[in-house]
Amino acid sequence: MSQLEFSLFPCLKDNYGCLVHDPESGQTVSIDAPEAAPVFTALNTTGAKLSHIFVTHHHGDHTAGIGELKAATGCRVVGPTAEAQRIDGLDHTVAEGDALEFGGKRVEVLDTPGHTLGHISYWFKDADTAFVGDTLFALGCGRVFEGTNTVMWKSLHKLMQLPAQTKIYCGHEYTAANAAFALTIEPENQALCERAKEILKLRSDGVATIPTTMALELATNPFLRPHSEAIRARLKLQRASDADVFSEIRERKNKA
Ligand code: ZN
Ligand code: FE
Repeated sequence: MSQLEFSLFPCLKDNYGCLVHDPESGQTVSIDAPEAAPVFTALNTTGAKLSHIFVTHHHGDHTAGIGELKAATGCRVVGPTAEAQRIDGLDHTVAEGDALEFGGKRVEVLDTPGHTLGHISYWFKDADTAFVGDTLFALGCGRVFEGTNTVMWKSLHKLMQLPAQTKIYCGHEYTAANAAFALTIEPENQALCERAKEILKLRSDGVATIPTTMALELATNPFLRPHSEAIRARLKLQRASDADVFSEIRERKNKA
């Protein structure tokens, strides 16, 4: 079985687009479509022809390029069943438990609501890679626009069960700001302190901090660490549930 090839590129102000290419079948999927032009540029660079778009959620900064890309390539557009009415151009809708086939490989769909109610994530199981849209970010998590903090926590907890080596692609480059906030929540976390320094270096060199891995997020992302005794002590929530500790961290980030 051939290896999938991943190419990440910036879109809009701070979004990421990503192409996944299967050399054997020639299939190429764009994960979300923030805008058409950078996707066309990435396709021209690789010489690939777009066969699919997999959409994570209905927000414009993830869907605005769909119409133009579909008109030019005839690609098949897949998106969340629960947001079918809010996304133009969908050919096929999926939800938790559904699997897609891409380049002969299995892609599993996970419901990850909270940022939006129908938000889904795509897990390329054989490639140990997950696309989590605006649910989980490197050192952060998405703003809770449509769900509740508890709904978001359940989605993050689900993603935390992915194998630790899973590479995580998220929808935005927010990592430097997330690192600064994370340090206010768990400054005694050595792995976090080291990662924050590396992130500053990467960003000053203009390098993407994506993909991250689940192992790295579990060790350093405060939103995945509500069980941390240091965090609980700082927030004075020693006896609270993980969901409540998460919620307090999310509220603090909203005000940061
Ligand atoms: Zn969004
Ligand atoms: Fe977004």
